[in-house]
This record gives sequence, structure tokens and C-alpha cells, in this order.
Amino acid sequence: LFLEISLSMDSLFDDPESIDKLALEQIHRDFFDHNPIQIKVELEGQRLAENGDFILGCRAGPSIHICNLYHEMAHFAERELAKIVARPPHNWGFEFGKYWEIAGQSGHEPQTDQSVKREMRCWAYQLSIENHYGIHHVSEWDEDLSPSQVLAQSAIYMPAFALYQNKVISQNERDILGYSAAQKKAIEILAEEIRQLSENEFTFARFCEAWFERMEALK
Ligand SMILES: [Zn+2]
Repeated sequence: LFLEISLSMDSLFDDPESIDKLALEQIHRDFFDHNPIQIKVELEGQRLAENGDFILGCRAGPSIHICNLYHEMAHFAERELAKIVARPPHNWGFEFGKYWEIAGQSGHEPQTDQSVKREMRCWAYQLSIENHYGIHHVSEWDEDLSPSQVLAQSAIYMPAFALYQNKVISQNERDILGYSAAQKKAIEILAEEIRQLSENEFTFARFCEAWFERMEALK
């Protein structure tokens, strides 16, 4: 029985071999060769190698996709230079909210909508990278979503997304729309912000500049 369960658990996770190999080779050639940074397909997020090299993964939860690597690359370029040079061991040196404990209950409180704002800048860079290579992540649930909508959709998993939503949609409008329509509208507003940031500020050219500036600082 145990074996059966672990097999079915395994099948929920993408095989690292399923990664788009051509896209992987290309991104390696363009951004990783001869730089103090490595790719580990099966990894999620960011780690640090023993020699101080950054390691970026291609996994997000059970899914393996080149766009997840683009996302971590976006974090590298968006993170402040001083923080990158300090070589954070994981998670780009971010702490997940402030820890609280009251009467036996505990958890991490969502910070402000600043964490959504930062993620938004990363999605804008990610969209610029996706556009450059012509590769996008297609939503399993809705194939009609545009690339910026697919990116914005993942914001609902952020604890601070509710704070962003309350900022962009008034209480009155939220009451009229109801929960799911208000959430849908907030995602649309976020998608549009991502699209504009990608076109105007967090362009592919600016991404390249930020990436190689950080590489030089690490050498
Ligand atoms: Zn992120």
C-alpha cells in the first residue's frame, strides 16, 4: 500500500526530464555560461552552492517549466545589488512575514502589499524574457488567458494579495461585485500593470543590464 501511495504521489510531480531542453540550452548559453550561477532543473526557487555560486531551479510546486527558471532569473535581476552580493542562502534573502504567537496559535502575518508589488516587478521581467524567447506558460484551467493573465493568476496564492485587492478595488465595489468577481477584477488589474511595466520599465534590455551588472559584482 505504501508503495502504491508513493508511486501515485510521484506521478503528481513532473519529471525533470520533461523540461524543454532547447530552451534550457539557449538560456544557459545566453545568461549562465562563465558566470557564478547555475541551473538545477529539479530545484524550486534559489539556493547557494558550496563555492558561493547561485543555483536557480525550474520547479514550482509539482510543475517543471522553463518559465519557472525565467521567474527566478527575474528575482535575481530585481533584487537589490547589495542583497545579491551578500549571497542569500535561499529565497533571495526574504523572510516570510512576521512570526506571531498568541494563546497557542501561531503563524506568519502577511506584510503589506509591498510583497505583491515586488512580485509584480518580477513578473514584468519574466514577461519580457518570455516574449524574447517566444515561450509562455499556458494555464491548465483556462487556455485563453494571456501570458500576463497567467502570471497575475498566481498572485492569489500570496497571503498579501488580499491587501493588494483592497487597495485597487474600493470596499463599495467589492460589496457590489462579491468575492469571486472582485478577485477576478483584481487579477485583471494586476495583469494590466504587469503588461505595462514589462513594456515601459522592466523591459528585456533593462533585465540584461541588471543581470550582467550583478554578475560582474559577484566576480
Ligand atoms: Zn517570485
